[in-house]
Amino acid sequence: MALVVMKFGGSSVADATKIKLVASRVIEKKKAGNKVVVVVSAPGDTTDDLLSMAENITSNPPERELDMLLATGEMISISLLAMAINSMGQKAISLTGPQAGIVAGTNYTRARVKKVNPNKIKSMLAKDNIVIVAGFQALNAKGDITTLGRGGSDLTAVVLAAGLQADFCEIYSDVEGVFTTDPRLVTDARKIEYISYDEMLELAGSGAQVLQSRSIEVAKKFGVQIYAKSTFSQNQGTIITSEENIRRRKMEALLVSGIAFDKNQVKFTIIDLPDIPGVAAKVFSKLAKVGVNVDMIIQSAAVNKKNDISFTVSKQEMKKTQIELDKLAQELNASEVVCDEHVAKVSVVGIGMKSHAGVAGKMFEVLHKKGINIEMISTSEIKISCIVDERDLRTAVDELHKGFGLSRKNRSLYEKI
Ligand code: ADP
Ligand code: ASP
Ligand code: MG
Repeated sequence: MALVVMKFGGSSVADATKIKLVASRVIEKKKAGNKVVVVVSAPGDTTDDLLSMAENITSNPPERELDMLLATGEMISISLLAMAINSMGQKAISLTGPQAGIVAGTNYTRARVKKVNPNKIKSMLAKDNIVIVAGFQALNAKGDITTLGRGGSDLTAVVLAAGLQADFCEIYSDVEGVFTTDPRLVTDARKIEYISYDEMLELAGSGAQVLQSRSIEVAKKFGVQIYAKSTFSQNQGTIITSEENIRRRKMEALLVSGIAFDKNQVKFTIIDLPDIPGVAAKVFSKLAKVGVNVDMIIQSAAVNKKNDISFTVSKQEMKKTQIELDKLAQELNASEVVCDEHVAKVSVVGIGMKSHAGVAGKMFEVLHKKGINIEMISTSEIKISCIVDERDLRTAVDELHKGFGLSRKNRSLYEKI
């Protein structure tokens, strides 16, 4: 008898009809002879709605209370799904994250999972229950309910799969798996059969929201193979696994596996900073202190002992960043702080880059041919990202998708890995 963790995202439990469909898929899995643990997200846009409710009260809610509020979203889904399954004649029981034994550190809103105590789940499974667990939430070290960051139900599914040593971890959403780019933007995007943890991590970290990046980190650490599938079709999805596993199958891989994009970016530039040691340290340590996550950074060459530093942050952190930079600019005698909200990041990702040169050149060439200006560049071993004007994003994604041979019609750039 296999143990399966099945996770259903918000779009899969958005209304009563969808919840009943999920219930029947879960029952199907149980009737096939498996023990089943189900993780669910809050229905539809509930988490966003809860955030707006908090914003209507105050722009700066205490994080403890925000987590208390956000955790209610997932509790709607677990109870309704348990009711649906029970009404279809199978035994099901719902558990909150804390009841399920998911334990986190001291932080709120972006807590890290420390351990899983799976005893309660195991005893419920032994009594022939389908166990339904609220995603995105845990018990923190202060005994409070806490949340695991946006998209955190994926992480709940992976930590449970690791903690229970499940045979399968299936993550269901409204798309059939991981595609070469967001299939909602590019209709020509192709489903990827297998993708390595590292590539998925880079895609997710660069804006592909289909899987949460921290869930992939944990999956890689504990060797949890993920099956990404659609709730609404029976087609095979994408397997996220180790690079070694992919190589062992001697499969072909594309030089570039996918294109990700992120519209949630803001670019700041501090102009005329003094070109002396310690200035960058001062700016970025101050930002880190107030909890701003800086993404891309560039520093211009010094002219007359002055230079400019540009960097990007997420839109949610714009206000906080602006306040700190205004103070820093005065303190450091810089002439101006400029904020550009109309930027986006486009990234190409592929393990083929490890062994093949020329991907960066090709990316810049494709953008240049369409007259798209590159404002910033960053690279990792398997990723190249560029900041462009948000009005150019659509063209950039389309052209890079075609240019790297990812569209269904054009698969010319295959390489053996
Ligand atoms: P869920 O609510 O089930 O957690 P999400 O909305 O978080 O689902 O993730 C699924 C969405 O991710 C899809 O609807 C799709 O628009 C988006 N997406 C972005 N990039 C990709 C990609 N490369 N492959 C598949 N889906 C992607
Ligand atoms: N409901 C949470 C969110 O919207 C967690 C999740 O969906 O995975 O981010
Ligand atoms: Mg999600």
